[in-house]
Amino acid sequence: MAEYEVAIIGGGPAGLAAALTLSRSMMRTIIFDSPLPPRNDASPHIGAYPGMDMATPKAVRETISDQIGNYGYTDIKSAEIASISGDDKEGFRLATQGGSSFGAKRVLLTTGMVDVFPMIAGIKDRWGTSVINSPFCQGYELRNRPWGIYVNRPELLAAAEVYRNWSRDLVMIVEPSIKVPEDRAKAIKSLGIEFVTGTAESLQGSGSALSEIVLRDGRRISREVLLIWPRQIQGELVKKLGLELCDDGYVNIDASYRTGRSGIYAAGDLTYGGHQNTNTAMHMGNMAAAWMVFDLCHNAGAQTADDQDNVARLIPSDLAETVSAPGYRPAEQDERYPQPKTA
Ligand SMILES: Cc1cc2nc3c(=O)[nH]c(=O)nc-3n(C[C@H](O)[C@H](O)[C@H](O)COP(=O)(O)OP(=O)(O)OC[C@H]3O[C@@H](n4cnc5c(N)ncnc54)[C@H](O)[C@@H]3O)c2cc1C
Repeated sequence: MAEYEVAIIGGGPAGLAAALTLSRSMMRTIIFDSPLPPRNDASPHIGAYPGMDMATPKAVRETISDQIGNYGYTDIKSAEIASISGDDKEGFRLATQGGSSFGAKRVLLTTGMVDVFPMIAGIKDRWGTSVINSPFCQGYELRNRPWGIYVNRPELLAAAEVYRNWSRDLVMIVEPSIKVPEDRAKAIKSLGIEFVTGTAESLQGSGSALSEIVLRDGRRISREVLLIWPRQIQGELVKKLGLELCDDGYVNIDASYRTGRSGIYAAGDLTYGGHQNTNTAMHMGNMAAAWMVFDLCHNAGAQTADDQDNVARLIPSDLAETVSAPGYRPAEQDERYPQPKTA
């Protein structure tokens, strides 16, 4: 018998938003989050997150975790999930790296993605401060400074006009392997954007600040901000599960957030590579949770608060002993509460 209705793997914005919705749907839930720092940990703040704009990633996670805790339906565990076995009929079994095992009727993957950075010395020390991946997230604080755009993927060429919105002082450093169509090169130059062909070797500047980008051939480009798009890959767990991926490497989900494996859902960054951000990840987590509630209620015999036998699993843990005591009846069967009259 599964101990939990839902196990969520990944305690970032998508997983936490899902856990909040599942808690408010009175679904017994467990959320596992790796003890390693999350991807956006390097960032000093979360920009464009309504209600908590500019809060630190840690503060956002803690605030939502506290709110989830108020309901008492979700256990939050700091552990990395190493494997998932089973199915939606018999239930899933999840094993942590430490060897513990947990059961759940449904699984939600919110594991995010793993960044693979270009081999440029000094990137990681500056990641999230002077080396950024999205002007929508960090651009405002760095507006009007000298920016470099590191083009190691052709898609970046398309965004020249957009980056110009945050700074008119732009240099595009294009890796020699990238073929730039003549018309695109002309269009970019006509915007007054400088074009340099070369491969970056290292970044210079004190602490997390950037002052210069040094190219392999020794050229030095004076810049205060460098925008890069690291390649993103799936984490080990998703690779092991062998789920169907889209051509660009993100997990393929349907409109109800179901992966190709029945009973396993996915939401957040691991499912799309477009404008990844906190709000979208939360929206997806929230939607996936709602679909899982539908699935559980229709197909997997979710234990609701009306189910007298299992009521102890569905009430806040600090009341578990009281209400699971012999003789406990849910409110609507209790004569102390007036019942609506039926014809
Ligand atoms: C440097 C940086 C700055 C950013 N700045 C902003 C910003 O200012 N504003 C904004 O809106 N967005 C910002 N973003 C984007 C935003 O952080 C992401 O879109 C959002 O965090 C995605 O949420 P998620 O829940 O899908 O994944 P994540 O936040 O990546 O969370 C996934 C979690 O799953 C855990 N995990 C992975 N595998 C396992 C496993 N096997 N077992 C247990 N746990 C596991 C990870 O440790 C992680 O905690 C930024 C991103 C980066 C990288």
